[in-house]
Amino acid sequence: MKSRQIPYKIYLSEEEMPRYWYNVKAHMKIQHEPFLNPETGKPCTKADLQPVFCDECIDQELNTTDERIEIPEGIRSFYRTFRPSPVVRAYFLEEQLGTCAEIYYKFEGSNTSGSHKLNSAAAQAYYAKKQGLKSLTTETGAGQWGTALAMASAFYGLNLDVYMVKVSSEQKPYRKEVIRTYGANVIPSPSDTTAAGRKILEEFPGTGGSLGCAISEAVEKATTTPSCRYVLGSVLDHVLLHQTVIGLESKTALDKYGITPDVIIGCCGGGSNFGGLIAPYMGDRLQGKNDIEFIGVEPASCPSLTRGKYAYDFCDSAKTTPLAKMYTLGCGFMPSANHAGGLRYHGMSPIISRLYHDGYIKALSVEQSKVFDAAVSFAKCEGILPAPESAHAIRVAIDEALKCKQTGEKKKILFGLTGTGYFDLAAYKKYNDGEMSDYIPTDKDLAKGFATIPEIKA
Ligand SMILES: *Cc1c(COP(=O)(O)O)cnc(C)c1O
Repeated sequence: MKSRQIPYKIYLSEEEMPRYWYNVKAHMKIQHEPFLNPETGKPCTKADLQPVFCDECIDQELNTTDERIEIPEGIRSFYRTFRPSPVVRAYFLEEQLGTCAEIYYKFEGSNTSGSHKLNSAAAQAYYAKKQGLKSLTTETGAGQWGTALAMASAFYGLNLDVYMVKVSSEQKPYRKEVIRTYGANVIPSPSDTTAAGRKILEEFPGTGGSLGCAISEAVEKATTTPSCRYVLGSVLDHVLLHQTVIGLESKTALDKYGITPDVIIGCCGGGSNFGGLIAPYMGDRLQGKNDIEFIGVEPASCPSLTRGKYAYDFCDSAKTTPLAKMYTLGCGFMPSANHAGGLRYHGMSPIISRLYHDGYIKALSVEQSKVFDAAVSFAKCEGILPAPESAHAIRVAIDEALKCKQTGEKKKILFGLTGTGYFDLAAYKKYNDGEMSDYIPTDKDLAKGFATIPEIKA
């Protein structure tokens, strides 16, 4: 029977907040292949990456041996403005589903940026400041990442230029205003402030822009401005490392009640929240200490893990970044205009890709209308209006709980609730008006994307 001794919310004290991030690579027997410099075809060295990224982040990116990496007090102090975050027992959802499963979720949406992205924005801005840099650049699509980095840059006193995909900056004027309120400069991309932007504008006047183009502009701006670096919100190993606070806090909270999940579920865009949530549990699994099922969930419209290829590819569509070995749909793949902006990425974290390739992770893809069905039933009983990205994890958590109802299994399900959906009301409007469409790329659509994967022997 359900034990009511487990509270609705398990809170940690500030003292219990993690002092170390957990580097899952230290326990991976097979590491992912190194990033390649596209000009030489050789593995990227620290010197290759230094013009673009902060030194400390590069060291973390290349670190495959240290299991624990200390979270400096300067970052922990900023974390205290929004952490620790609660693990919630979804009693109301369980009741509504009539399931015998126990459902838990880790809620990362209780900060102004509205998502987990602040965990890495805080760290990256801190290291930039420590290195004596003056400014940062980045790109943003949906806007969660731009907001998070604007908050962190304001906290640490850094200037920030956010290249925001032009259509998004027009469709989400309030998101843009939050970013500006935290003091960052929002530049609709493509812009005339960079050579990359000017070239695109010349070729495609009136274009609404793309994430790939915004990345190229942000990287160019960083490498041509003194004392400036570029910051990325997902995909890379050091971003996943920073996100392990999610998994570490979850484990500390659940351990207090002797709970080990049977299934852990997260949505996958670039893989950082899912990687961060599962990391400490995956570490135990790699050492043979548990048998947890890990499920990454992606949109059917952008199915990098479930239908992609495991290959070296560019991280951006303008083909300017290093090459990463990952599950990819091709850097030229254009996902349909689905409503989960944070999951519209052609590739996947090299760590998650490796673990998936080696059979430690399962992946599922789900259709948009079913995702919103889940989002709305969750909102009605648990109260939180989820981000469309997060609702992908909710969908699969509900499906797992319904399976338990059939089989009578009392599984413990943990999922990551990465953020809130207040800036996604245009998407909810579509759903409420009965106008939400599902889009699943055909094999022919995918072939077009695959054709943009570069030829590399490795
Ligand atoms: C960005 C984002 C995601 C996806 O990014 P990951 O790197 O895969 O974690 C998921 N949920 C929300 C709310 C986001 O903003």
